[in-house]
Amino acid sequence: MMETRSTCAYCGVGCGVIIQSDGRHITGVRGDPEHPANYGRLCSKGASLHLTARPEVLASRRLLTPRWREDRSLPWQASSWDGIQQRLVERLLALRAAHGPEALGFYISGQLLTEDYHAFNKLARGLWGTPHIDSNSRLCMSSAVVGYKKALGADAPPCSYEDIEQASCLFIAGSNTAWAHPILFRRIEAAKAANPALRIIVVDPRRTETAEFADLHLALRPGSDVALFQAMLHQMIWQGWIRPDFIAAHTEGFEAVRAQVQAMSPARAAQLCDLPEAQIIEAARLFAQSPATLSLYCMGLNQSSAGTDKNQALIQLHLASGQIGRPGCGPFSLTGQPNAMGGREAGGMATLLPGHRDPACPADRAEVAALWGVDSLPAGPGKTAVELFEAAEAGEIKALWIACTDPAQSLPHQALVRAALKRCELVVLQDAFSGSATAEFAHVLLPAATWGEKEGTVTNSERRISRVRAAVPPPGEARSDWQIVRDIARRLEPLLRPGKPSLFAWDGPEQAWLEHREATRGRDLDIGGLSYARLEQAPQQWPFPDGEAAGQARLYLDHRFATPSGRARFHAIGWRPPVEWPSVERPLQLSSGRLRDQWHSLSRSGTVPALFGGAPEPRLALHPDELVRQGLAEGELATVSSARGRLHVRVTADAQLGPRQAWLPMHWGSEYLLGRDEAGAALQGVNALSQDRCCPDSGQPELKYATVGLQGLALP
Ligand code: SF4
Repeated sequence: MMETRSTCAYCGVGCGVIIQSDGRHITGVRGDPEHPANYGRLCSKGASLHLTARPEVLASRRLLTPRWREDRSLPWQASSWDGIQQRLVERLLALRAAHGPEALGFYISGQLLTEDYHAFNKLARGLWGTPHIDSNSRLCMSSAVVGYKKALGADAPPCSYEDIEQASCLFIAGSNTAWAHPILFRRIEAAKAANPALRIIVVDPRRTETAEFADLHLALRPGSDVALFQAMLHQMIWQGWIRPDFIAAHTEGFEAVRAQVQAMSPARAAQLCDLPEAQIIEAARLFAQSPATLSLYCMGLNQSSAGTDKNQALIQLHLASGQIGRPGCGPFSLTGQPNAMGGREAGGMATLLPGHRDPACPADRAEVAALWGVDSLPAGPGKTAVELFEAAEAGEIKALWIACTDPAQSLPHQALVRAALKRCELVVLQDAFSGSATAEFAHVLLPAATWGEKEGTVTNSERRISRVRAAVPPPGEARSDWQIVRDIARRLEPLLRPGKPSLFAWDGPEQAWLEHREATRGRDLDIGGLSYARLEQAPQQWPFPDGEAAGQARLYLDHRFATPSGRARFHAIGWRPPVEWPSVERPLQLSSGRLRDQWHSLSRSGTVPALFGGAPEPRLALHPDELVRQGLAEGELATVSSARGRLHVRVTADAQLGPRQAWLPMHWGSEYLLGRDEAGAALQGVNALSQDRCCPDSGQPELKYATVGLQGLALP
C-alpha cells in the first residue's frame, strides 16, 4: 500500500488527508496528523473521500472521454483529445470572428486548484482577451472580499484557526459551523471544554446545532443583521465600551458612524430584529468587554443583497472595540469551498487580477500584462456570475466555458440561467463528473481529473497553502484542468499571437504556480519565499515573502492596515430591509443551506450511499406550528412558490426554525425534486425559487432569502 499526502476536496477548512492506494486505485483515506488545520481529524465527508473513487463510481459517474455534439438535439459523439481540441478551436475562432473576444465568458470554480485558476485566467484575459471570467466563489465569499477591502484595505482574513483556542468570546454570525465546517467546530468544542469561561454567541435565525452549543443565541429575523450590529455598536458607545485610543490612532471615519448608529438603539433593533433587547445589550457587552473576541462568519452574511454592508458592520464592531490585531481576536470570514481563497489570490474572478490587483486599474493591468508577457489585458471588471448569465440570456455573451461547477443547479433564478444556457451558441463544460444539470445544455464535454488524481495547491480559510497530490492516474481520458486549458491555449496561440513565444510553456503545474508566485511579490499576499519544495515539508500561511522562515499567522499586529493611510476605515452604512417582504400570497421567509454530510450539488458526495443516512431526500423544513397552520402533515408533498418559480417537495417539522420561516437544503436538483416549469423543463432544487438580486458592491446574490407561498399537493 502507498500513502500520499494531500488535502480534502470539500470545504474551506482545508484538512490534510493521507490517501492510501496501490498506485492505480484509491483504497482508503485518513486524516493527516501533522496538518495544522485538522491534526488528523476528518468529518464524515472527508473520511469517505476514498469511496468517491470506487471502481463502480469511476465507471458510472465519471466523465471519461471528450464528447461533442453539433446540436443539443443530437446524441453525444465520443472524440479523441486531438479531435475535440481541433473542433473547439475552430468553433471558438469562428465565434471570435463573428462577435469579438468579449462574446466568450468563463465561469469557473472555487474547487479548482490555484494552478488551474492561473491557467484559465491567462487564457481568458492574457490570450483570448475577454474580461468576462468569474467563479462560483462569487456565490460564496465575494461580500467578504469587498468587506475586508473596504474596511481593512486588503482581501486578507487577519486570523488563524489557532485564534479559536486563544479567544475568550466567539461571535459566530451566519454560520452553522457544526455542519458547514465540522472540523473547525470540533476545535470550538475542544476550546470550550478546555476553557469553560469561553463565551459563544451565535447569530442565526435558526437554532442550528451551532446555536444549540452557544451561551447566547440571537435568533434574529432573517435579513436584519445590520440593524443588530449597529445596535451593538450603539450600545458599546453608550456604555463606554469602545476603545477611543484605538479608534483615534488606527482608524478613520468613526464620527460619521457614531452619528449614524445613534438612531439604532437596542430597543429599536429589538423590534427590527425580533429579539429581546437584553440579548442585544448582552451581546454588545460580551463582544466589547471580553479580553479577546473572534468573530467567525460565513454565507449567512455573505449571500445577501446587503452582504458587503453586513460584513462591514461586523468588522466595525472589531474596530470600535479594538478587537483586532491581537491573538484570539479579529474578524474571520470562513470560506466555503476548498480553494475559494486561491481563486482570489490568482485573480480568477471578474473583479480581481492576480496578486489582489484590480482589473479597473490601468497600472495593475499593465503590471500583470508585463508579468505574463502580453501587450495588454482587457479593461475590467468583467461580468460577475449573475451578470454573465444575464448577458448570455440577452444574447450579448454567445459562448460559455464552464469548469467544475453546475450553474444550471447552483445559480439563483434558474429560469433565467437555463434560458441563458439555451441561447448560447457554444457551451463547453469541463468537469470530472457526468450527469450534471448543466451537461444538458452543453455542446462540448471535457473530462477532468479530480481529487486523488491531480497535483497543485489550495489555500484554506486561514490563508494556509497546502499541496494537493495525485495518488493515482486519472481514469479514462481525464486530464488535469490546467493541462486541458494549456493544450487548447497552445492551439490558439499560433493564430492569436503568431510568431510569439508560448504563454503556456508548462510541462507541469509547478511552472504555472511559479508564474502565480511572481504575481504576488511585493503585494499583501507575497509568497515569494515559498516553493513547491517548501510546501512539500508543510503547508504554509501567506504572506511568506522571500527571506522569511515562516508565513504570518496573524495580520495587522502593528495595527497598521492595508489602506493608503494605514488606518482602518469606518463606513456609515444604512440598514435596509430585505428586497422581498412577506405578503399574503408569499408569507414565508425561505432560506437554504448545507447538510452536514453533503456537498454542493451532490456530484461527489452523492456517490457515497452512507452520506444519505441522515437525510435521504430534501425536505422543506417548517416550524411544527407552521406545518399545522399550513394544514400539512409530516412528509406530505407541497408546492412551494416564489416570484421566480415553484417546486414540489415533502415537508417536515423542525423546531429549529421560527414561525413564518422555511428552510430547504441546497444540494438536490431535478432528479429528486418533482415538477416541471411552464416550458416543460425539469425544476431545479431551491434555486428555482431563489433571488438573483445581488449585493451592489460584491455582486453576490441573495441566496439566503426569498419569500414563498406553500400549498398542499393533492396527488392523483
Ligand atoms: Fe474536508 Fe471540510 Fe470535513 Fe475537513 S471539515 S474533512 S476539509 S469537508
